[in-house]
Order: sequence, then structure tokens, then C-alpha cells
Amino acid sequence: MTFRNASAQLIVPDGTPLPEALTRTTHLAIGAHQDDLEIMAVDGILACYQRKDAWFCGVVVTNGSGSPRAGVYANYTDEEMCAVRVQEQIKAAHVGDFGAQVLLDYPSSAVKDGADKRPVEDLATIITAAGAEIIYTHNLADKHDTHIGVTLKVIEAIRSVPEDVRPKRLLGCEVWRDLDWLLDDEKVAMDCSAHENLQAALVGVFDSQIAGGKRYDLATLGRRRAHATYAASHATDETTGLTYAMDLTPLVADATLDPAAFVQAHINRFGDDVAARIARAQ
Ligand SMILES: [Zn+2]
Repeated sequence: MTFRNASAQLIVPDGTPLPEALTRTTHLAIGAHQDDLEIMAVDGILACYQRKDAWFCGVVVTNGSGSPRAGVYANYTDEEMCAVRVQEQIKAAHVGDFGAQVLLDYPSSAVKDGADKRPVEDLATIITAAGAEIIYTHNLADKHDTHIGVTLKVIEAIRSVPEDVRPKRLLGCEVWRDLDWLLDDEKVAMDCSAHENLQAALVGVFDSQIAGGKRYDLATLGRRRAHATYAASHATDETTGLTYAMDLTPLVADATLDPAAFVQAHINRFGDDVAARIARAQ
């Protein structure tokens, strides 16, 4: 398998040869940075964990440069920091029993440039080889511009491949901004009650990010627990962990649908709901 970016890497934790290591994929997750997959796509990781008939493939699009650093990493150069982040992603792929892990190694500037088609072509190559039933990526209301860039490239890549290799579902998941605000009947709620220890390990392995002064490990598991309790005001908790996604499948089913208009319609329905609740109480 060749990628447009010569420094891209493909790691297969269990050593299964290509192309099988990719063609066995059932759950594909495409994120911007090292650690995004473990934060947003835990549903797919858990669905495939210790299974022989379901396989998770992770794709990280950027090289992770420019991240904050502190503690033992304080004096690392940008190149050294990128190398650490790659190693952390490979560790996570082993911890999570991923079927494959791809690191496309693009600078975030390439991801945020709509005219740069190299990431789209690489993603189309992976999506075609994987033929996954479900793809997880960032949601369109995320507040990190690189995340939005990845989502747009994923949509473009899926639209470019033959219909028979397109996923049945495309989910936009939570990292920077959660999706609690979506109307309940528009939320895709994913139960992640199982293997809390594994979930903690998967986020905890990204030490360079956490030691930089951000407790992603506590925040990620805390958000899942909070969603489980705040999911319904008049019912007891049915899970101990939930993650939410925005269903982006309509954007690949209808190639004429504009991503900005699509997410704006969700925001408008949320706004209408807020206004209606206030009106009822006045
Ligand atoms: Zn990220």
C-alpha cells in the first residue's frame, strides 16, 4: 500500500500481513491527532476488543507537531515530540488490540487547506481497502479547526470511492466540544460501560499530552460518566459510560448536501428547543 505522503506508516500489532490486516476492518476511525481516536472512537475499539470477527483500524492524519510540553518533555524539540507521539499511538494500538494503525504524518496546515487533496487521496485508499461498516471521525461542531479539516476530508474521501466500499454509517464524535446539546432523538448514544480499565489505559498511554498539563485521562472518563447520568432527567442510570456522536451518514448518502448547512440545521433545532422550553414556562 502506498500513500501520497512518503513518511506515512502502517503498523499491524498482531503481524497479520497486508492486505488482510486492512481488509478485515469492520470499524474504522479517522482522527486528527495522536490520542483523538482513544477519546472519540472508544465505541469501535470496545466493539472489536478481543474479537476475531471484528477489527478496529485507526488512522491519525497529522504528525502531532506543535503540541504543548512540560516535565520530562520540556526540552524536546518539535521533531522529538512528534516521534514520542507516534510511539504513544503505536502503544495504544497494541493496548487496544487494533487490527491496524495508520499514521499519515501530515502537518495540520495540509489538513486545514481545502485545496490540498493529498490527505483525501490517502484516506480514499484506506477506506477502499478497509471497506468498513462504520467510520468514526470528528463532529462538525468541534472547535478545533484541524478536527473540522479532517472531517471534511473524510466526507470528501468517502464521496470519491465506489458505493460498495462506502461505510453504512459515518459518525462525528466528541473531542473538543461534546454533543450533549444535540436533541435527544438526534444523538447517537454509544454505551461504553465495559472495560473501564482498558479505557483508562488507552487514554493514559499518551503521557506526553497529559504531562503537558492536560488531564485528558480524567476528563475523558469523566465526560463519559457525566453523559451516562445526565442522559435522562427522570430515569435511573442505564449505563456507567456514554459517548455521543452526530450522525453524518446523510452527508455521504447525498453528495450535494453542504456540511455547513447540515450542522447549522442541527444548531437551529437546538435553538428552537431552548426557546420552546422557555416559552412553555413563561
Ligand atoms: Zn485532536
